[in-house]
This record gives sequence, structure tokens and C-alpha cells, in this order.
Amino acid sequence: MIVLSGGTGTPKLISGLKQIDEDFNIIVNTGEDYWISGNLISPDIDSVIYTLAGIIDKERWWGIKDDTFVTHEEISRMAYNAKVKGEWMQIGDLDRATHIFRSDLIRENKNKTEATLILAKYFGIKQKVLPMCNEDINTIIKTGEGEMHFQEFWVYRRGEPLVEDVYFRNIEKAKITKEIDRLLKEEDTVLIGPSNPISSILPILSVENFRERLKDKYVISISPIIGEKPISGPAASFMQVKGLEVSSNGVAEFYKDILDVFVVDYRDNMIDKKKIKDIDLYATDILIENDEKSKKLAQFIRNLL
Ligand code: GDP
Repeated sequence: MIVLSGGTGTPKLISGLKQIDEDFNIIVNTGEDYWISGNLISPDIDSVIYTLAGIIDKERWWGIKDDTFVTHEEISRMAYNAKVKGEWMQIGDLDRATHIFRSDLIRENKNKTEATLILAKYFGIKQKVLPMCNEDINTIIKTGEGEMHFQEFWVYRRGEPLVEDVYFRNIEKAKITKEIDRLLKEEDTVLIGPSNPISSILPILSVENFRERLKDKYVISISPIIGEKPISGPAASFMQVKGLEVSSNGVAEFYKDILDVFVVDYRDNMIDKKKIKDIDLYATDILIENDEKSKKLAQFIRNLL
């Protein structure tokens, strides 16, 4: 099975798939990658790697549990003193080691896939963790205050500017990597995890003819929305500007050309079966609040397979 992942909702599910020892490999969004303090942060890849390594901070679903922030705090004091913007993303000391090492590999002309596979090996991960492409793609948010990178919008500006559109800079240059091409040839089942459809999944689907290649596969998706609210993150405003209803109906509509099975929450009273046509619909508990719940959802998916 191939899992398509962003950095929060799907890693929560991946932790369950790992618990039941499911056989899967992961293709990860890199549109949110960002250079800061001299290093390349690849937030979704880091979350997937740390989840599979069992060291993710499960309170925040980013960074390494029990990490310290000594370097970040010192940089912040220096920036305050110099009245400059400074390091506005909180980066843990151990997490930074990953970023420094990744960036050195890239500076030595390794591509993103090679750098990620080297990191995954170091963390003892048996699954393939593959960036969606090797090219640098930037998720850009058009706002009432101008265009900004996703990280500037979401982390630095805390999602406050009014969203007018979302696009992926350079996506026309992105190529399906040979590692992903091989995976697509080998696997018939694709799981689109409960991730932001616009900022986490759409970039992956937009790499060359990736979306087209999913049409003859068995595609299952778990909704990232219960009722009319995403469980976290900016999916609501992003879906709105793309003309989608902010609900599981809207998510199903968005994936309708590729989706075979859609899993929603059993409490979701917004589900309109007339709007989710030609897709097998299942309801269960999709709120992943702890290890037990992520295991249960993973088992539910295994039974669907
Ligand atoms: P990002 O890269 O951090 O934006 O991560 P993702 O796109 O992977 O995850 C964000 C999405 O996950 C949001 O749309 C959330 O609504 C969804 N999400 C977060 N926690 C859960 C959960 O426990 N269950 C489900 N079904 N979705 C979740």
C-alpha cells in the first residue's frame, strides 16, 4: 500500500499502521519545505520519519519528544538584541541536527529523495519515505496582504491574513521520481490519509500525471474533517477559496475522480450521500486522540482492504 501524507493527520494514522505492522510506503508533501537559520526544514517528512522512529512529540505532532530548545532560545535573544526578525520557527536542538544533516547532504548535491532515504535509514525505518519530487516546490498563499510562503502564513502570521488563493510555485517543473514511479508500478492500493486536501495532498497529486496514475488504483481516503470543521490547521479557508464545501462532502467532491472508498466519522451529521456519489462510504471513529485510537482506525482500514 502507498500512503500519501502531510505532517499531522496522516502521521497520526501512520503510527497506527506501524502498530499493526501493515505493509506500506509513504509519499510525502514537500510544498511546505522552508529554509530557515541556514537549514532546510521539511516539516512533513520530519513528522513522518519521527513518527515511524517512535520519537515524534505526540502533543504537537512536530519535532522530537523531550527535545530542548537551547539553540533556538539563544538565537531568539540575539535577534531581540539586534531588533531583527530572528528564528520565528521553534526548532528543537535534536530536530535541528536532522535539518543540518539534510542541508549538508543537499549542499553536497544529493537530491531530496537521497537525503530522505539516508535520514530514514539512520532512524532505523524499514518503510520507504519518499518526497513527492526532488524539485523545490513552494506552497504560496495569496492573501489580502500579498503573497507569502505557507510557513510565513501559518507559523509567522498564525494564519491571520485573509486567504485569497493557494498555489504551488514551480509545480510545472516537478517530475515523478524513479523511486515513486517504481512504487506506482508495484502497488495497487493507495491510502490518502486524513491530511489537508489542498496544502498537503494536492501538491502530491499535481506532480506530473500522478493524479491520472491513481485512477486505475484502489484509492481509500480518511476525511480530515468532522462536521464543518477540520480537526486542526487551515483546511477550512484553503478549501473555501478552491470553491469546496468545508465538510467531508467537500473532501469527497475534491477526490471524486480517483476515490473508491471514503471513511468519515460516525458522528458527522453533515454527510450528504447525494453529494458523495459512486464512492463506497464507511463511518467509524476517525478522531485519533491516542495510540489505541490510531491502532483501531488502522485495523478498520486493514479490514476494508
Ligand atoms: P500539516 O502538514 O501539518 O498541515 O498536516 P496534515 O495535512 O497531514 O494534517 C492536517 C489535517 O489533518 C487537518 O486538515 C486536520 O483536520 C487533520 N487531522 C488532524 N488530526 C486529525 C485526527 O485525529 N483525525 C482526522 N481524521 N483528521 C485529523
